[in-house]
Amino acid sequence: MNIKEKIQKFLSENLLSVSKPARYIGMEYNSIVKDTSSKRLLRVVFVFPDVYEIGTSNYGLELLYWLANELDFVFAERAYLPWPDMIQLMEKNDVPLFTLETKTPLYESDMIGISLQYELSYTNVLKLLELSKIPIRAENRADHHPIIVGGGPVAYNCEPIAPAFDAVYLGDGEVQLQKLLTILWETRGFSREERLRELSKIPGVYVPLFYKQLGRKIVPKYDWVPTKVSRNILKDLNSVLLPKKRIVPHVESVHDRIVVEISRGCTRGCRFCHAGYVYRPVREREPERIVEAVKELVISTGYEEVSLLSLSALDHTAVEQTIDQLLEFTKDKKVSISIPSTRMDAFNIHIAQKISSVRKAGLTFAPEAGSQRMRDAINKQITFDEIVLTAQEARNAGWQRIKLYFMVGFPTETDDDVKDIGEVVKAVKKIGFLDVTASVNLLIPKPHTALQFVRVQPPEYMDHVRELLKPYRKFGKIDVNDGRKSFVEAVLSRGDRKLFDAIEISYKKGYYDEWSEFFSFEKWMEAFSAVNLEEYLGPYGLEDFPWDHLDSGISKEFLWEEYQRFYSGTSTKDCRVGCVLCGVCMKYKVRNLLVEETWTR
Ligand code: SF4
Repeated sequence: MNIKEKIQKFLSENLLSVSKPARYIGMEYNSIVKDTSSKRLLRVVFVFPDVYEIGTSNYGLELLYWLANELDFVFAERAYLPWPDMIQLMEKNDVPLFTLETKTPLYESDMIGISLQYELSYTNVLKLLELSKIPIRAENRADHHPIIVGGGPVAYNCEPIAPAFDAVYLGDGEVQLQKLLTILWETRGFSREERLRELSKIPGVYVPLFYKQLGRKIVPKYDWVPTKVSRNILKDLNSVLLPKKRIVPHVESVHDRIVVEISRGCTRGCRFCHAGYVYRPVREREPERIVEAVKELVISTGYEEVSLLSLSALDHTAVEQTIDQLLEFTKDKKVSISIPSTRMDAFNIHIAQKISSVRKAGLTFAPEAGSQRMRDAINKQITFDEIVLTAQEARNAGWQRIKLYFMVGFPTETDDDVKDIGEVVKAVKKIGFLDVTASVNLLIPKPHTALQFVRVQPPEYMDHVRELLKPYRKFGKIDVNDGRKSFVEAVLSRGDRKLFDAIEISYKKGYYDEWSEFFSFEKWMEAFSAVNLEEYLGPYGLEDFPWDHLDSGISKEFLWEEYQRFYSGTSTKDCRVGCVLCGVCMKYKVRNLLVEETWTR
């Protein structure tokens, strides 16, 4: 019996004894299976290191799946991390992780592309490599093992997990995907080192084995690799076609709907926002292309909801025009439109009214901080009166439920700043909402942001915050997070290569750390005893960081100036109305590309 037969036999004998067996059967509507009998193809597996329902919701990974399969020499498949009950059975029966499309073991592929969306998935990454029977450290892999490539927002501060990767891709996947796959195709039969050497010549591809840690800094071991790895930026979203299909998962996914990306990047300049910095500049998609994509996807999937993906959807220059065009089509088909919105202004309510003429589900806003002083410090340019006015307009328009997001743990934050979160909840409740929910989370001072310099607050701070907000609980449900996950995530995000030892210790004791039922703060604190935790907490000055060599394009000096502006509460304007010299556009010869301009070219 060969390995594929063994996997099939295992599935037929065990599927009914695991939770949600449909996670493992594949053959979803619109998934791709290529004929591999007549010619050799480059076998690629895109993996999301979390369970099926989460992984199938990820837009970026599926986009790469479609783009890779467009190439006639490539066959791209998918895999997700099985749920622990399935993992136990697989280990007991000595069954390796396999692809959903053809039930091929991952170790037989040429390349495995792993999506790195959040730091708490690091233990899952190691678990999936172990389950795939691939050495978890790149340095221990032989020529026959697949090349393991990581990518996603976490790539910009990937050092703690870097020893597990042969290569890490920085920036927009569309730019160099074809080149990367072509090089892998052309170097079949070469030694692993020769292949990695070729990959390291692609702009934006970082090969950790060719670098070493010196102090806190990561430096090249050889003079033929760049000191800084630049990021790939897709200059014009309209230059790449959107997929005409979407895989329809067997199990309801967390975002069970069509997703169409309407713009990339955000230039509002919130000083804590990792995505806001590393996805600059703003690039908008033309309305016609958005509408065309929605029409095709509704027909090819049967979905009844479409989500317009963007970091700040309502900032799209032609968002209203796009929605008007979409409504002409979606109303007939009874398809609803949703926008992940966090901006509090009248325009938001106006658009929200348009797209939810029938259903008035809850509205979600993110004032981010309770006091005006803190909102000024983080450059969240909204006043208390504007928050209340927007909530009032939402109530007048018929909404009965509102959810508000806040963060705490900023430098200089006082008890009064925290209590002002309660004051916002109180003011909104007084407007007459049935339900007001406030979620309060601990700040994660991420690399590549203006707050990368600040000290991480201990989780116990959240107990103090909870006490301060207790008197306001009569005005709404105030959910103060315990801060433990945020603390671990903060340490992992600011880590260097030495932290890999702690991740390795942690994964041996458990994984699925993003899931509350599996997360163990004690496990992580024990693992962190293998390193000097203090090194990762800050505060920092203008010094070397273990992410300096992974270049988002934003200059460190700009981030430092923004950090000083945090203390003075000075605002920085949105750079669509005038460049504020963050460095990205000059460095990569790009610019904010708004639809009005692309129309007139
Ligand atoms: S260089 Fe200027 S225009 Fe470009 S993203 Fe930075 S601030 Fe905005």
